[in-house]
Amino acid sequence: MQYDDNLTAERPTFVTHLECAATGERHEADQIHNLSRAGKPLLVRYDLHGVKKALSKAALANRSPDLWRYRELLPVRQRRNIVSLGEAMTPLLPLPKVAAKMGGGDLLVKDEGRLPTGSFKARGLVMAVSMAKAFGIKHMAMPTNGNAGAALAAYASRAGIKSTIFCPEDTPEVNVSEIGLQGATVYRVNGLIDDCGKIVAEGKAKVGWFDVSTLKEPYRIEGKKTMGLELAEQLGWTVPDVIFYPTGGGTGLIGMWKAFAELEAIGFIGQKRPRMVAVQAAGCAPMVRAFEAGVEHATRWEDAQTIAAGIRVPQAIGDFLILRAVRESKGFAIAVSDEAIAAGLDEVAREEGFLMCPEGAATYAAYKQSLADGRVKRTEQAVLFNCATGLKYPLPPIRRTLDRHSPIDFAAL
Ligand SMILES: *Cc1c(COP(=O)(O)O)cnc(C)c1O
Repeated sequence: MQYDDNLTAERPTFVTHLECAATGERHEADQIHNLSRAGKPLLVRYDLHGVKKALSKAALANRSPDLWRYRELLPVRQRRNIVSLGEAMTPLLPLPKVAAKMGGGDLLVKDEGRLPTGSFKARGLVMAVSMAKAFGIKHMAMPTNGNAGAALAAYASRAGIKSTIFCPEDTPEVNVSEIGLQGATVYRVNGLIDDCGKIVAEGKAKVGWFDVSTLKEPYRIEGKKTMGLELAEQLGWTVPDVIFYPTGGGTGLIGMWKAFAELEAIGFIGQKRPRMVAVQAAGCAPMVRAFEAGVEHATRWEDAQTIAAGIRVPQAIGDFLILRAVRESKGFAIAVSDEAIAAGLDEVAREEGFLMCPEGAATYAAYKQSLADGRVKRTEQAVLFNCATGLKYPLPPIRRTLDRHSPIDFAAL
């Protein structure tokens, strides 16, 4: 990565304060924070007028293609605190063949599987760990369904910070292994992610761990926000008509919604917003239930089950922020079955040569369902999020073999 400022210089960041997402109460910048005094997520606020004067589209175009190109809209003030593993911009790929089969829509997928540790959790955790380094935090802890823990382990080790991580006991082996290999202490817990979260909260109270749970620290959102910044830049400073986002804790959906508001404030985009669609699995759909009931908060989803582990989140502390973004954008929340997810994954891999993760395949299944029920039109530009590489998930075995000592019927191969 290249930077135009020296290693110890203050970076031109514009953070003014943090704000309680529920009450609007102001909290000081440059201090360690978890939730607000009201017990709700904190949002980072910037001097956007200052950013507008300091940053031009042309200047941005010349910067290296990674998420640090948006530094004026990011919280890390000193470059020496950046804990990078190479957070490359991710490609926006068309899916022309499957789109043609559905009658020809403008269908794009942002492939987040290219990021360090193979998922978009890297965007959030690189920011949280860089800020933790700036604050001198020594020990971070987190509940995870896998990908967030992998990203925390990697960045914390790189920063020389201890990490302790708790996964539900049925978390895929590969996730637990990568977390352990990347230097964290990792435990399987006989419960779901929110049960793991309770252990972290207790450890925070008893031994002072820094709690990096989704939305319980303010900077993961800022990292995830870069998905919205990147997407708008890649589309020539426009936004698509509709975004399908696989929603667990909702950091990315909330972050992108924040990104679009900030981009409008600095004059980079206009008033148009994409419709934000929160995609969940039918076996764990608390946001869909709350959206349909017209309520502001979601109740816990009992017996949560789905093959899309990243969105198996029974209860989200940012539920009201997810629902607010979905409603303000005139979007909706939609649930898809595991069968539709698996079929979508197979179809896109076979037709387009693109192996999605189950959560990414859920957005594809949701797009199909929304075209069929008329909530999205073929003429609209839709962006799906593939949030992790499909290679991180258990894959079906192939049993076909060939005996090189027997005659081979080449015409039949
Ligand atoms: C974490 C995760 C999600 C959900 O992201 P949120 O922003 O927390 O809602 C979706 N897909 C994958 C692969 C994930 O790891």
